[in-house]
Amino acid sequence: MSSSEESTSAHNVPMPSRQSPLYENCSVYSPRGALMFRCSRKKVEWYLHRKLAISLNEARTVIQLTFEPKGNGRVGEGEEYYLEDRENICVGCGGQVRLTAHHIVPFQYRKFMPLEIKSHASHDIVLLCNRCHDAYENKALGVKKQYAKKYDIPLEGRGYIPHPQHRRLHAAAKALLLKDHEIPAWRLEELESQIREFFGIDGSVDDEVLKQALELPLLSRSDDFEEHGQVVVRRMSESELEEFIRMWRRHFLEHVKPQFLSEMWRVEDPVRNRDAAYLWSR
Ligand SMILES: [Zn+2]
Repeated sequence: MSSSEESTSAHNVPMPSRQSPLYENCSVYSPRGALMFRCSRKKVEWYLHRKLAISLNEARTVIQLTFEPKGNGRVGEGEEYYLEDRENICVGCGGQVRLTAHHIVPFQYRKFMPLEIKSHASHDIVLLCNRCHDAYENKALGVKKQYAKKYDIPLEGRGYIPHPQHRRLHAAAKALLLKDHEIPAWRLEELESQIREFFGIDGSVDDEVLKQALELPLLSRSDDFEEHGQVVVRRMSESELEEFIRMWRRHFLEHVKPQFLSEMWRVEDPVRNRDAAYLWSR
């Protein structure tokens, strides 16, 4: 799963494409022989290594648990989606190249949600090709802006401390890099001395130093900094949170119009994981 959608991503950051398939479609059966859920090879090896399961095929892609899980395993009503094989294609257009794992409920919100919701995440992570992804992200940004307004919390968060000194150094470095002959010599010397003083240099100021000056942050986060997603999620009641998740699912369907999404995937599917046994399998 990609977590490239980091807290500060108020802007559209292109996501790196996946090198490995998202779905490995290994099968986990209960001791009674019921198919419980699909998972990765890594997870299968985790069970086998701890002798919590035995392998049912040579390829070690089908296993059976050796313990009776709490509850009746993964699948409850509305959760059939988890039992299907998944294809490594874009759910939007069926494309097979430049695929990224897309969070239907943006990661910047989901990461602040309770574990019982987060542990349900695979329902709301699907594969999209870069084209479908980028087109959709623009639409998603519009929704995020609405929430920014509704909860009065900007997308970039709140609680930054400005660094006026860095700002002055930026201005000085930019002017010096321009090598504008119209700037009088005394002024250039003044700008250079600001840079020299900050970096503790005696000699001449070269372009490398000026570029370093341009990398100085203009803002940093204070101790009370709050992320956009953190505030939005905190201010929602349990039922508002559920509706929020369903809203994102509907929005995704409406705008991506996925042609290759499982028919088992439904907006109304549960958003919470009520089955402790599944937590075992993470
Ligand atoms: Zn696509």
